[in-house]
Amino acid sequence: MFLLDSHCDAPSMLLKGADFSKIVRDGHVDYPRMKKGGVDASFFAIYTSNEISADEATRRALQMIAKVYDSVENNSDKVALATSVAEAKKNKRKGLISIFMGMENGAPIQKDLSLLRLFHRMGVRYMTLTHNGDNEICDSAATENKRWGGLSPFGVEVVKEMNRLGMIIDVSHISDMSFYDVLSHSEHPVVATHSCCRALCNHYRNMSDEMIEALAERGGVIQINFYPAFLDERYKEVLPSYKRIVDHIDHVVDLVGVEHVGLGSDFDGIEICPAGLEDVSKMQKIIIELRKRGYSEHQIDLIAGENFLRVMNNVIK
Ligand SMILES: [Zn+2]
Repeated sequence: MFLLDSHCDAPSMLLKGADFSKIVRDGHVDYPRMKKGGVDASFFAIYTSNEISADEATRRALQMIAKVYDSVENNSDKVALATSVAEAKKNKRKGLISIFMGMENGAPIQKDLSLLRLFHRMGVRYMTLTHNGDNEICDSAATENKRWGGLSPFGVEVVKEMNRLGMIIDVSHISDMSFYDVLSHSEHPVVATHSCCRALCNHYRNMSDEMIEALAERGGVIQINFYPAFLDERYKEVLPSYKRIVDHIDHVVDLVGVEHVGLGSDFDGIEICPAGLEDVSKMQKIIIELRKRGYSEHQIDLIAGENFLRVMNNVIK
């Protein structure tokens, strides 16, 4: 098995000074707990808020990338950076956990495709087009009065350039209209690196069945987020169990088959975790629950990582 988490906010902790080689007390992700959880690869989110200026976002993204590079270098006997599936599989054979980088919010590229290319050259392999605000690229799922009504004209250029570079487009956080615009312009499959199903929890950050079907039709994957607010509408009354994550997986499997779902924890980006899955060290509990529900080992391999790796192999050059 190759266990991959397509989204966590560990770089935000690194920026605050966390030492990745030890247990980070107020965080969910660090080397000792990734090892314990049997995680083979994780996408570290280079996250910037829509609240800050473009220049500040660019600076912050660079600082985060620098921290990721330093942390990997300081722990080169434990982890290694990866930019492709082949590298990640090689790292695993050497006993190293792979750290991938994804950028959450395209604000740091400003309105400049050269900056997009530069971040790609630094090793960033997916970009979540926006976060909780409309930006130069597209509208967010979180805003009331949308700025563009989907992708902006610059956003269309970004999609084309990401296709050309072999950079994965992440549709988590973007508005429904932005999502359909991306699908109509992208030649490659796209992913939702940390989103859940609206059918089970009606939240604007989650995907409708129609969206999941359209994503799957084009070969994409939805990676289930562990955040209780996206797992269950009643999360404030009753904290959902980690088994609710598997309910969302079941729903996607029933809807579009087992080839289009995976795991995107959002650890270190969420203030509460589901009961029983308080940090990355407990990831195997999901695998055990999948087994209990009758999934075959092959199907579990697909969900645990192979589905996302397939998209990476399709898109990354
Ligand atoms: Zn997010």
